[in-house]
Amino acid sequence: MIDVTLLGTGGMMPLPGRFLTSCMLQINGHSILIDCGESTQTAIRSAGLSFKPIDLICITHFHADHISGLVGVLLSMANSERKEPVTILAPPKAAQVIGHMLVIAPQFPFELYVSELKNDVLPFDFEGIQITPFPVKHRVPCWGFSFYLPRLAKFDPDAAEALGVPRILWSRLQSGEDVELDDGRLIRARQVTGKERRGIRVTYATDTRPVPVISEVGRDSDLMILEGMYGNDEKMDKAMHDGHMIFEEAAGIARDAGAKQLWLTHYSPALPDPEAYLDAARTVFPETVCGTCGMHTLLRYPEDGR
Ligand SMILES: [Zn+2]
Ligand SMILES: [Zn+2]
Repeated sequence: MIDVTLLGTGGMMPLPGRFLTSCMLQINGHSILIDCGESTQTAIRSAGLSFKPIDLICITHFHADHISGLVGVLLSMANSERKEPVTILAPPKAAQVIGHMLVIAPQFPFELYVSELKNDVLPFDFEGIQITPFPVKHRVPCWGFSFYLPRLAKFDPDAAEALGVPRILWSRLQSGEDVELDDGRLIRARQVTGKERRGIRVTYATDTRPVPVISEVGRDSDLMILEGMYGNDEKMDKAMHDGHMIFEEAAGIARDAGAKQLWLTHYSPALPDPEAYLDAARTVFPETVCGTCGMHTLLRYPEDGR
């Protein structure tokens, strides 16, 4: 399962009733925070989430509305008695940028590892979660992230029984491990499991023009969270100049990716009522929803496993 909470939906500056865009994923007991602008500490508390389990903080880019709240979030984690190491994944020069920010909070009761993003599109494993960062197109270097929770193939107890595998070894085979029996036979996990099953994918991209990499990496996402800085093409010149999207462009990405659902976020402060533009976005991708602060969903594995 992936528990998704959209903490905030604002772009540029927090407003009363609208925190800056950030998101919390809870997967297998690990929390991953994506972006932390000025209001994120309050947004986390408002959503009823804890600071302590945050193991990874992904920063899309170094614009203040996406990182200026980092020190406060880390201090709240320290106040929550967090002791385990924390990793921050952020664009190049992260060590320098974050190092400067930490002048005002030089010590934490946990190790802080800063890892810099690269321009290639390569998945890596984080606590059993496959994370693929991908560069997008903004005014400054900016990345999106796709998170994939794989699902083990279904275990076939009849096949294990037929091969004479003692029950005590079943859980190892179930978790994908090959095992050797006392009689010297090697039993491969694939001999007692069915075909590979589909996992759960969440893809997040904000502060970008629509570039193909978003739908490519986010193919078949169960949920896409994409920026919708402006409601319609009246602001297209500004969107193109500043590296942002209008609602229909974000909807086009979700459609091209074959996503199941799209949440829009990162609204311009000049966009008080995002719902007013929703119908147009839904003509492009019907499963479009205007994100709201604290919006939450629990994504489960598909019933049939495919
Ligand atoms: Zn922004
Ligand atoms: Zn930006």
